[in-house]
Amino acid sequence: MRRRVVAANWKMHGSTATIERLLKELQPLRVPQIDVVLLPPIAYLSDVVAHLRGSSIRVGAQNVHPEPEGAYTGEVSAEMVKDLGATCVLVGHSERRRLFGEGDEVIARKFVAALRAGLEPILCVGETLAEREAGEAEKVVTAQLDAVVGVAGVGALKNAMIAYEPVWAIGTGRSATPSDAQGMHRTIRERIRALDPAIADGVRILYGGSINAGNAASLFAGADVDGGLVGGASLNAGQFMEICRAA
Ligand code: PEP
Repeated sequence: MRRRVVAANWKMHGSTATIERLLKELQPLRVPQIDVVLLPPIAYLSDVVAHLRGSSIRVGAQNVHPEPEGAYTGEVSAEMVKDLGATCVLVGHSERRRLFGEGDEVIARKFVAALRAGLEPILCVGETLAEREAGEAEKVVTAQLDAVVGVAGVGALKNAMIAYEPVWAIGTGRSATPSDAQGMHRTIRERIRALDPAIADGVRILYGGSINAGNAASLFAGADVDGGLVGGASLNAGQFMEICRAA
C-alpha cells in the first residue's frame, strides 16, 4: 500500500506576510494518513521550516543546482537545501524545462544531486499539447523517465517520487481526465516494472495540472495515482486542505 502524498508548489509567489498567513490558515489541517509537502520559494524556505518544526508537514525546494558548491552565482545546491531543513525537491518541472532550457541531461544530474544530498527528488514529466495531439504523449513521458533512470539507475526510484504533469494542464484550469491521468500513470509504472517490479510497486506517482477541490477526488481515484502536485490551488488554504482530505 503506497502512502499518498499531496505537494504544494507555490512557485514564485508570496511574501513574508502572505506566507505567514497561509501557514496560519493551514494549521487546522490534520491528515495523518498522507504526506503533505510544501514547496515554497527558496527565499522563504527557512521561515517555513522554522514554522513547521514539530509538525509532520514536509518542506521542499523547487529547484537545485547539480553541483554541491562552486562558482555558480545565484544558484543553490541540494546540500544547502538539505542544510536548511528541507527533505525533498522538485526536479524537471515543465517551467524549468521550458523557461530555463533544462534538458534531460541536466535534469538527470539534478536528480542525482538531490539523492547525493539526502533529499527525495520529485521528478516531473509530461508532454505538451502538440505532443499529445501528435499521439506522442507516452513516447515523450517515457523518454523523460528513461533519461533519468538511465543515469541514476532504477534503484534510485526507491527514494524518489514521480509527478506526471501534462504541460497543457498546468495553470490552465484544464486538468487531464481521471482516465487519461490513470492511463499515463499506469504506463509509467509498467515502464518501471519492466526493470524492477518491487520498485514499480513502491514508487509514488503524483498527478499535477489544474487540480482543485472539485476534481481532486476523481483524479485520485485512479489505482496508479498516489496523490497530487498542486500549483495554483495550493495558494488557497481552504482549497489545499480540501485536496489533502480528498487524498
Ligand atoms: C504545477 O505547477 O506543478 C501545477 C500543477 O500547477 P497548477 O496546479 O496551477 O496547474
